Amino acid sequence: MCRPLMELEYGEEELEQRRAELIKQFSETSQNWDGERFKRLSTEDLKLLLDLYIEQFFGKRWDEEIGDRLTFSLSTRMTKSAGKTIIKRSRPDLAPPQMRFEIRIGVSFLFQFDEVERSKLVCGLSAPNALWALLFVLEHELCHVIEAAYYGKSNCSKERFKGLARRLFGHGSSYHELPTAREIAYQKGLRVGDEVTFHHQGRMKKGMIAAINKRATVMVPAKDGPYMDKKGTRYDKYYVSLSSLTAL
Ligand SMILES: [Zn+2]
Repeated sequence: MCRPLMELEYGEEELEQRRAELIKQFSETSQNWDGERFKRLSTEDLKLLLDLYIEQFFGKRWDEEIGDRLTFSLSTRMTKSAGKTIIKRSRPDLAPPQMRFEIRIGVSFLFQFDEVERSKLVCGLSAPNALWALLFVLEHELCHVIEAAYYGKSNCSKERFKGLARRLFGHGSSYHELPTAREIAYQKGLRVGDEVTFHHQGRMKKGMIAAINKRATVMVPAKDGPYMDKKGTRYDKYYVSLSSLTAL
């Protein structure tokens, strides 16, 4: 474990053992993972995972090369990527050793992991549950941190990154196939343009789905609504969670 982080390499069997040990320790420590799903997630869970990764994969090299320059945050707004690494430069001319990093994890992907039944690939590896998905997403982001700490920038569509992620974690791709809100909506039979009903402040509203993101945007005809279409019909706009919609 004394090689520079950019040059670390693990074989398939080693990866399997180290991840299994990491999962065992995480499951014993975190109150938020019940063995099948996340009840909630906190940045403490991510810090715990980082400590376990340092122990299992990076060794003292992490301290020498990254140290305490990495922090974590959670987001409920990420609808496409499950993770994101932000390079924090206090000045534009800052050298890589002075840069700080933040890994942001999109929690919706983890909470809605079980809503669609099919195999789920993350970084080219099959994730049997939400914790595995989180590991693969985190590993991908850790590769971004390692590359950025060397070169001041990181790009997962380039060969240098792909080589690092392949050597270190056996990743075969930079993408995830986790269920998105759109896919869950699709599976529930909800499409843009569909007529739906939902309850709002005790009243039943009827409208049309105009967009599906984290929630659905539903346009409901209303005499004095602020939105107007080309025929002059006025609407109110509502953001409704997908589970509250009934298709007509
Ligand atoms: Zn990436």
